[in-house]
This record gives sequence, C-alpha cells and structure tokens, in this order.
Amino acid sequence: MAGTWVMLRCQCGRNFGSRSNSNSKCPRCNKKTSLSTIKSFSSSSELRDAVSKANVPDEIISELSSRLESYEKSERSNEGLTSDDIQKILSLAKLPDDSVTLSSVNEAMISLNLKKMNAERLMELLETSSMVLRNPNSSWSVLQ
Ligand SMILES: [Zn+2]
Repeated sequence: MAGTWVMLRCQCGRNFGSRSNSNSKCPRCNKKTSLSTIKSFSSSSELRDAVSKANVPDEIISELSSRLESYEKSERSNEGLTSDDIQKILSLAKLPDDSVTLSSVNEAMISLNLKKMNAERLMELLETSSMVLRNPNSSWSVLQ
C-alpha cells in the first residue's frame, strides 16, 4: 500500500509532513488550498527527514531575505546616520563659540565620510529632536 505519511508542498514554498488523507494546512501561511502531495512514506521518521531536507534551502533563503529586509528598514529609518555619527559630526562641526552652521556641518559630514543626507536635512532632524537650537544668524547652538 502507499505510505500513510505524505510530504505536502504549499504554494508558498513550504514543505511539510502530514498523515495522508488528513485535512492539512500549511504551517507557514495557514492555507489549506494549493497543497500538492510530493511523496508518500511508510514511516514518520522517513517523512521527517525528507521534509527537513526539502525545507533547508527555502528556510535559509527566506531567513536571509527577511534579515536583509529588516536591515534595510532600519537603515532607511535613520537615513543611514547613527546617533554616534551625529555626535561625531556635531563635535567636528562646532565653531569656537559652540555653534554650528550649515557649511561647518556639511564640511564635517564630508570629512568624516558621513555625507548620507544633506546638511539642511540633518539640521532639520536635529531641530526636531531638540539637539540644536536655531539662532537668528543662521547658525545653531548645540544643546548636547
Ligand atoms: Zn504555505
């Protein structure tokens, strides 16, 4: 007789094991439809081995791509500058009176190789987060 265990493959790419003729759903996406039977087995351990082998490449690929995605998201959210970078930029950009100007910030970003946004945008962000205070003479006082 054909095996009583089956390896099923979901449309999402996940392989999983099930008893044959049971009403299975995909453990990854929970879908019951679009499952195809790959192979039948007579023992659950054979099935388990086959499923884990079949899943390895998919699992690694999906883990890598989700890591990459979250890395890219965090890079985008601070636009590539960490708070460390910002401290470095400000301390280099500071003039003798402890203020910074667009051009001193711009030069600091360039010399630190941290020119990941324009200086105007950085000063906007810093103003919003109250790290600098705009002075009337188009410079900013660094508050921290
Ligand atoms: Zn699925």
